[in-house]
Order: sequence, then structure tokens, then C-alpha cells
Amino acid sequence: MINRQLPKTIDPFKFAQSRLFLKGELALGKMQRLQEACQVEELEGLVEVELKGFVEQGIEVIKAEFKSILPLTCQRCLQPFDLKIETSVTLGLLKNETLVEELPASYEALIVTDELIDLSSLVEDELLLCIPTIGIHPQVACKIKANSWQFGEQNLNSEETTRKPFAKLANLKKSIE
Ligand SMILES: [Zn+2]
Repeated sequence: MINRQLPKTIDPFKFAQSRLFLKGELALGKMQRLQEACQVEELEGLVEVELKGFVEQGIEVIKAEFKSILPLTCQRCLQPFDLKIETSVTLGLLKNETLVEELPASYEALIVTDELIDLSSLVEDELLLCIPTIGIHPQVACKIKANSWQFGEQNLNSEETTRKPFAKLANLKKSIE
């Protein structure tokens, strides 16, 4: 059982350059935006966080892993269900937005304008990205059967559609060119 207190803030560039490692838990209850997204009055539970800093190809990187369970409401049958989250993201640190285009596609850009970043809001941002636009039960658990609700089913829960905002931008860019 992990129960290590995480610092409130980190200096991300220093974290990467010094190849630091952090592991611990954060309370979901303090994440206001996440609570709103889950549409619950009180968000209980924890998120397990693991952060690894390093530098590769001249880029300061933080690899972050998150594990949590978010209480959502199924948009199909309106019953509560738990969304299990186990995700990782490789953040390429940038000092400003103009550098985003130079970042290889395997990194997700993290623009760092202040010296310190708030760890809880960083984690919250990543968890928010994991919540599907339309959250629904897996088919077997849902009270309403899929054949009565056939609108683009496969796409709704897939990781592909909820993450990678930059991948979408890249496609858009291609089609403009
Ligand atoms: Zn359902």
C-alpha cells in the first residue's frame, strides 16, 4: 500500500534534469473541475501517481502514470458506474507555445510558464482527458442493451478518441495543407 505524501508543487525542468522520481497518492476530493465533470457532490478516493523525470533528444521529459477509479453516471441507462483509469503520458516540457510544433509527436506538450507547477492540477488535467465525452457502461453491465442504442458505439470508450488532442490537430493540419 502506497501512502506517500506528494509535494504540492514541483519544478518540472529541474525534475527532469535531475532525473527525479516520485510516487504517491493525491486525494480526488480536492479536484474541483474533476468533481464537476463526474457530476457528483463529493468526489471520494485517490489517484496513484508516478512521475519519472529525464532528458532525451535534448527534451526535458516527465513520464507520468496514473491509476484511479472515477465515479461516473452512465449516459445510456443513467446508473452510476466506475471508470477505471490506468494511463500514462509522456510530457515534453516547453517554455512557450511557439515550440509545440517542434516537439516530436510521441510527446504531449506541457507548456511551463511559471517556475513551479501545481501537481494536483497537472494530475487533474490528465484525468479530465480520460473522461469520455459520453461516458457509458461497458455493454455487459449496462441495463440498456446496445442494439437499442447503436450510435457509434465502438468509438465512445476508446482511448483513441478521448486522448491525443494533438493528433487530431495534426490531421486537421494535413487536410488544410
Ligand atoms: Zn449503463
